[in-house]
Amino acid sequence: MRHTHLHQGDGDVSSDELRRTVAELRQERDDLEIALSTAIEHGDAIEEQLGLANRQLQTELRERRSTEKKLRELVEAISRKSQDLELLVKTITEHSDTVEDHWLSRYEESAVTARTDALTDLANRRMLDETLAREWARARRHSEPLAMLVCDIDYFKFYNDHYGHQAGDGCLKRVAQVLQQHASRDSDLAARYGGEEFVVLLPATGTDGATLVGQSIQKTVQRFGLAHEDSPYGVVTLSVGIAALVPDHDNESLLFAEADRRLYLAKQQGRNRVVHDG
Ligand code: GH3
Ligand code: MG
Ligand code: MG
Repeated sequence: MRHTHLHQGDGDVSSDELRRTVAELRQERDDLEIALSTAIEHGDAIEEQLGLANRQLQTELRERRSTEKKLRELVEAISRKSQDLELLVKTITEHSDTVEDHWLSRYEESAVTARTDALTDLANRRMLDETLAREWARARRHSEPLAMLVCDIDYFKFYNDHYGHQAGDGCLKRVAQVLQQHASRDSDLAARYGGEEFVVLLPATGTDGATLVGQSIQKTVQRFGLAHEDSPYGVVTLSVGIAALVPDHDNESLLFAEADRRLYLAKQQGRNRVVHDG
């Protein structure tokens, strides 16, 4: 603040001095007024800016809340959809498993049916052919013997004629059971070759072993004692031809031809017997 000399009481202040002082005071007042109004204007502006900023903030806050709400709804919708999808996938998976199992078991069933003789439940000719080819190749690889029994019911035509076709079927089933019981190893196979003719395939078995099996079959059938009045034996009997060899070539039909030839010999020699050589 400017310094003013006022000597009150003695009245000796010059008029010049007084004028200067007054001018200075005026100037000082003007300056203050300007400063004040500037400060007021400035304050208004700041207030206005603050108000604006506040409004912007409110708007942003609202927008942000509404965006958050939309996002939450979106997340909920997505999680609902993903639950639906999971359920759908689960249902489809379970269903396709069931369908697959169904067709697999149908396929397995038909594969078994296609290789089974309907009357006797033994393997059929097709199964026999497949197994013979496989076992022949295996025996050849390992230089092991493979044996085959060809069995034929004796005087079966007479049996049918005497007791009827249905009784004939029953007789075939009974003989088949005996053959199945004798095919005791996992790799053995009892098959109905056709009509009243059967084949037993015995892998890793030589002539001696095959003859024992053949004789046991022949004796078991005879001892069962199924009446057959038109046979000289009085009961149903079986003739058996046997072949056993270690394969050294790829013609597996030789085994059957050899066993069948011996079956013919068994018939010639009076039936109800086993022939394994000659
Ligand atoms: P052999 O002692 O020489 O073997 O004489 P066989 O009478 O047994 O032989 P043959 O081949 O002359 O007769 C076979 C008979 O088997 C004729 C046929 O009617 C009968 N047969 C074939 N298949 C079946 C069948 O599935 N069921 C019945 N019941 N009979 C059958
Ligand atoms: Mg016969
Ligand atoms: Mg026959």
